[in-house]
Amino acid sequence: MKKSVITLAVSATVGFGTIFGGTSVITEAASISSLKGEQNKIQNQRSNINSTINQKNNQISDLQNQQANVQDEITRLDDAITDSTNKINETNAKLESTKEDIMKLQGEMEVIKDRIEKRNVLLKDRARSYQDTGGMVNYIDVLMGATSFSDFVDRANAVVTIMEADQAILKEHEADKKELETKQEQVKTNLVSIQKMVTDLQTLQQQLNVQKAEKNKALASLKQQENEAHEGLMDLQEQDALLAAQQSAIQQAIKNEQAAQAKAAAEAAAAAKKAASSNSGGSSSGGASSGATPGVSSGYWTQPAVGYLSSGFGQRGSERHVGVDIANRSAVPIVAAADGVVIRSYLSSSYGNCIFISHSINGQVYTTVYAHMSTRLVGSGAVVKKGQQIGVMGNTGDSTGQHLHFELHKGPWTQDKRYAINPVGIVPLP
Ligand SMILES: [Zn+2]
Repeated sequence: MKKSVITLAVSATVGFGTIFGGTSVITEAASISSLKGEQNKIQNQRSNINSTINQKNNQISDLQNQQANVQDEITRLDDAITDSTNKINETNAKLESTKEDIMKLQGEMEVIKDRIEKRNVLLKDRARSYQDTGGMVNYIDVLMGATSFSDFVDRANAVVTIMEADQAILKEHEADKKELETKQEQVKTNLVSIQKMVTDLQTLQQQLNVQKAEKNKALASLKQQENEAHEGLMDLQEQDALLAAQQSAIQQAIKNEQAAQAKAAAEAAAAAKKAASSNSGGSSSGGASSGATPGVSSGYWTQPAVGYLSSGFGQRGSERHVGVDIANRSAVPIVAAADGVVIRSYLSSSYGNCIFISHSINGQVYTTVYAHMSTRLVGSGAVVKKGQQIGVMGNTGDSTGQHLHFELHKGPWTQDKRYAINPVGIVPLP
């Protein structure tokens, strides 16, 4: 273990409570205002975090509203898709019945064609008979062959009837042809328009399905955003809880300072009365180490664990290492690096079993973090003494190999670890 040198910026005239000798009322008053300054800093941070929490909550309810809207649109699209499916089925049924109509018409056409064929034959025969007999001459022969006037009238009527019948047959022939053509046109038009209807409906349904797929994608993305917002919210709430814990720790430190101040004032008054000079209290130098537990150093800080320094503070590849690593093959005790109040003691996915301690030294708040422990021996709110065992070295959380990850923050611990400082030269290390 290296000999440590305490190099605090502020002279060590004031202690946390009355552990350290030598007091000055003026410095203590200053340290109280400094602690209050720290309280304000934390309060500002909490205000910021809380407004961010509000923003996140608004964002989450906004995302939830958006999801509800998209869900409504999806329901509407589902209805439209069902509707278009029904219409497609109806139209297909119509298409089938039209095809049946065409078959029926085809049958009728055959009948009409047959009739026309027969009439053509009849008319051709008659035309041939006109030709063979010299046309109308035949009729005149018929008339001339009359034996009496009434016979003539009968024969004339018969001729007219035959001629009218020929005319009627021709007209019927034309009408049949026309009817056939009209029916054919109608059915063709019908078939085309029904087929177009089916195609249009199928296109519409495709569009609806595309829209629905897009909406489902949008919904998934909103859900994802909401999950991320929830995670962000949890981080913020955790940060706020930590800051609140630090606030109460500092509040405790202020009380301790005030008590120390009162005691110092009383002692100064007593000393003045006696007109005796007092010596400043000395501290014992680093006690004997058992080999597993570090000896307690004099001064404010002591070594948090026995072992070797396996990684220093600063950039480590692409990663910023905001602490120092002390490794040991044995599961050695971890001790509090200074007097303080435990502000958090919990199992973190990254830090593993970890403890945060808030310290107040000359009105300056420091926060120490002890990570990856196998066991935690103190809980949140516990008041700990410098060198007091708080846990056992381990390999929990995001850790490779048994070690203590130790952080020193000059100020509160924050998510961005902006107050982290290199403990070398402040905290005794191996
Ligand atoms: Zn580390």
